[in-house]
Amino acid sequence: MPFRNDHPPLSPAVTSPPQGGREDQAPITGGCQCGAVRYRAESLGRASICHCRMCQKAFGGFFGPLVTAHALVWTRGAPKHFASSNRVQRGFCGECGTPLTYDWGGEPEISIGSLDDPGAAAPSIQVNPADRLAFVDGLASLPWRDDPPAVSEFMASVESHQHPDRDTEIWPEHRPEHRDD
Ligand SMILES: [Zn+2]
Ligand SMILES: [Zn+2]
Repeated sequence: MPFRNDHPPLSPAVTSPPQGGREDQAPITGGCQCGAVRYRAESLGRASICHCRMCQKAFGGFFGPLVTAHALVWTRGAPKHFASSNRVQRGFCGECGTPLTYDWGGEPEISIGSLDDPGAAAPSIQVNPADRLAFVDGLASLPWRDDPPAVSEFMASVESHQHPDRDTEIWPEHRPEHRDD
């Protein structure tokens, strides 16, 4: 198992056909949190979550959420890369650090959370169970916190600097009361 700690791509033979592709379908877009790097893809392949230790580290999360991007192009800036192994490069925004790609030499996979519409890439498979964090199975049943007033006040005072979930002509925009909606 030469790639045990840097997950191999899903076999093309079992990858779902591209979703959509109709003429009237909007292109798939996304990018990093600060807006320095933006991308577009024609369609998405199968979405997965990877439990390998490298994905945990690269995403700073419990697992790596990734989806194959067909005909991926960079429309603003370009990611920096870290060679996480001899076989794989991981792309990220050099300005804000958002994880963006998993490049293994074929069609790249992109981070699901960086999509403008991450709901369009529901994972259908999980891989690399050996490194899976034991508590992951219980996450969905954790209790919800009712925000105390201090937290609500804090949240109400937040002015987002995050790039909106759509392409922009100019970024950052000069907009003192801009809201990302
Ligand atoms: Zn960025
Ligand atoms: Zn992985």
